Amino acid sequence: MRVAVVGVQGDVEEHVSITEKSLKSLGIDGEVLTVRKPGIVSKSDAVIIPGGESTTISKLIWKDGVAKEIIEIAESGCPVMGTCAGLIVISKYGDDQVRKTGTKLLELLDVRIKRNAFGRQRESFEATLNIEGIGEYDAIFIRAPVIEEAGNGVKVLAEFDGKIVAVREKNILGLSFHPELTGDVRIHQYFLTMV
Ligand code: GLN
Repeated sequence: MRVAVVGVQGDVEEHVSITEKSLKSLGIDGEVLTVRKPGIVSKSDAVIIPGGESTTISKLIWKDGVAKEIIEIAESGCPVMGTCAGLIVISKYGDDQVRKTGTKLLELLDVRIKRNAFGRQRESFEATLNIEGIGEYDAIFIRAPVIEEAGNGVKVLAEFDGKIVAVREKNILGLSFHPELTGDVRIHQYFLTMV
């Protein structure tokens, strides 16, 4: 199995190493590649878009054709996971901040996203979630977005404080938090078994 981690900006190394660890723990023979140029995503079995700065990630993937490849492979059924800024990038609809910054979204996930939704007092925090299909999970939120509205085909996997923070729509997984910053491999295992 080949997993592509979009590596233009953000928590790239952390995603690569937890994905390698998860493959090993599942007994799956695979490789994890960091993507900065076109040509790799279209030959992959799963794609991860990490957290970081959505404005920057979006700009860089649209610039050189990586965005188009992600859209094509997602449409063919390949699993795509977006975490934090990655969730913003894969969403269909954004908020004022997304519009004002001219951030172009991939529109893979039928949700409306709100950036930096927990405000200044709660820039980063940990919370225990109950995630469908996974169970109790300690999640790390950093200037996290939330899902304000989700379409009919979108399954809500977890909420926090009455806000949607994890969803799945067929082969697309979106998380507000950072699964790569914990030692817990269950989110990546869940994602890899979607392949
Ligand atoms: N606030 C960031 C953004 O809007 C996301 C934060 C993160 O990925 N840790 O892009």
